Amino acid sequence: MHIDARNIPDQTLIEGDICIIGAGAAGISMALEWINTPYRVILLEGGGFEYEAQMQDLYKGKTTGQRYYPLESARLHYFGGTTGHWAGFCAPFDPIDFKKRDWVPHSGWPIQREDLDSFYARAHKNLDLGPYDYHPSYWKAKDPSLDSLPFNEAVVFNKMWQFSPPTRFGTKYKETVVHAANIHLYTYANVTNIAANELVSTIKEVTVKNFSGKTHTVKAKYFVMACCAIQNARLLLASNKQLPKGLGNRNDLVGRYFMEHLEIKSAELWLVKPELLKLYAIDYGKTKARAELAISEEKQREFQILNGTASFTPLDIARKQPAFIDMWTADTAQTKKNMEKFDQAEKKGSSKKGYRSFQLFTRIEQAPNPNSRITLDTEQDALGVPRSILHWELTPLEKRSIRTIYELIGQQLGIASKGRVRLMEYLQAENDKTWPEFTGGGWHHMGTTRMSNDPNLGVVDANCKVHGINNLFIAGSSCYVTAGAPNPTLTLVALALRLSDHIKSRVATKA
Ligand SMILES: Cc1cc2nc3c(=O)[nH]c(=O)nc-3n(C[C@H](O)[C@H](O)[C@H](O)COP(=O)(O)OP(=O)(O)OC[C@H]3O[C@@H](n4cnc5c(N)ncnc54)[C@H](O)[C@@H]3O)c2cc1C
Repeated sequence: MHIDARNIPDQTLIEGDICIIGAGAAGISMALEWINTPYRVILLEGGGFEYEAQMQDLYKGKTTGQRYYPLESARLHYFGGTTGHWAGFCAPFDPIDFKKRDWVPHSGWPIQREDLDSFYARAHKNLDLGPYDYHPSYWKAKDPSLDSLPFNEAVVFNKMWQFSPPTRFGTKYKETVVHAANIHLYTYANVTNIAANELVSTIKEVTVKNFSGKTHTVKAKYFVMACCAIQNARLLLASNKQLPKGLGNRNDLVGRYFMEHLEIKSAELWLVKPELLKLYAIDYGKTKARAELAISEEKQREFQILNGTASFTPLDIARKQPAFIDMWTADTAQTKKNMEKFDQAEKKGSSKKGYRSFQLFTRIEQAPNPNSRITLDTEQDALGVPRSILHWELTPLEKRSIRTIYELIGQQLGIASKGRVRLMEYLQAENDKTWPEFTGGGWHHMGTTRMSNDPNLGVVDANCKVHGINNLFIAGSSCYVTAGAPNPTLTLVALALRLSDHIKSRVATKA
């Protein structure tokens, strides 16, 4: 059922069993799990069903440190959330991503890859992906012309990705949510404060505001924040009437360890003779899967590097492509035009002829860093919530890891007599710690409410429950401890489904 929060009387009290804040990939995935249950679910969405400039303005904030995209255009603020923008690249995290790695400070999740496997398989359905099978052999059996480069898999292996259409949650799931009798979707319901009991051990209610000047109160037994990594941190920090540092922030961890994936052109691949490298190309609309080159767990350990992958774009196309960080502006219409041009040029790269040269493009996790963080500004948005400041930093480990990845790929090409790899200039001098102007991220926001079973080291526990508060949970990539190499949405949907099962088990036992 759908209710526009602007059209109900001011100061309405809304009550339910579960209150989910935010209707993007995480929030909608959770809500779908509760349809036809005996529970009354309140789904609060700040925006309406369409893009509105006034709503996007609530996301405006400052960025300091490493150059970043304007915050008001890096996320979408309406039903469906940022899936209205996303490109659909999906792959599960590797087992090593969850492990404690001595050379990656602050690494190590309290859960492992096998804890997520069944949820990844379920998340595939939400994202319209193929079977939960990432072995190249599965895809090669479907299309025998998908040849791999002849590398030693103990060094460099083919990491498969799948492509969502991309599923736009706001379009695909609108009717299902709106027609579900026990899901009460409130649009124009921006949560501006979360209030707890006197001991700050249980959330009592949240405050909802909108541009019509109305304020409502929502009470529930369980609350789930699903506003995405920057907004989850911002809302916890801004809910500071009872504890000056904000909710869940006794150990000053909320907002820290913000992570992105570095997405950056890094090297050129020159082959001895032209090849199509079809396994590595985005074959739009057909295979719905491709491989990127990745470094084995053993070699990551040996060289003490971060996890990252390399993708291929024909060099003559790639050289003409501007960097994402230059294309993506606060002007949405202009950005849309830039991205369409970019996509058209990329599609040309999946033509039938072979190429001798490719640009190698890196996606890599960044090492968790407490100094990369979200804090509150003194300036407020139109609903009275302090705006965010994102301070983003990179470390030398990221740069050394990228260089090592291409040295290993280059060695494998040489051994196979296939060709050569030429590092881009910014990677050539080992002691150069600077980053080029075109350095950018993948619009992936992670880590601001990290997971740990130790309240001194994390904001949420292994069940995504905020430490010290018995009924407040967080769904989304803000819970990530490390970022893995793959884009975040498949993993965050898997985590949301896992969280949903956990809350169901608590509801059943009235815990
Ligand atoms: C250009 C671009 C390309 C991308 N490509 C990929 C890709 O290929 N693969 C991939 O895995 N990921 C990709 N992403 C990232 C992906 O979009 C996000 O990982 C995903 O949308 C996050 O889901 P979420 O539900 O956590 O947040 P969102 O989808 O952002 O949803 C959050 C929801 O919460 C609502 N909300 C926020 N604050 C409040 C509040 N205070 N009160 C009420 N509601 C609130 C918002 O309106 C929104 O609906 C891309 C992102 C961008 C921008």
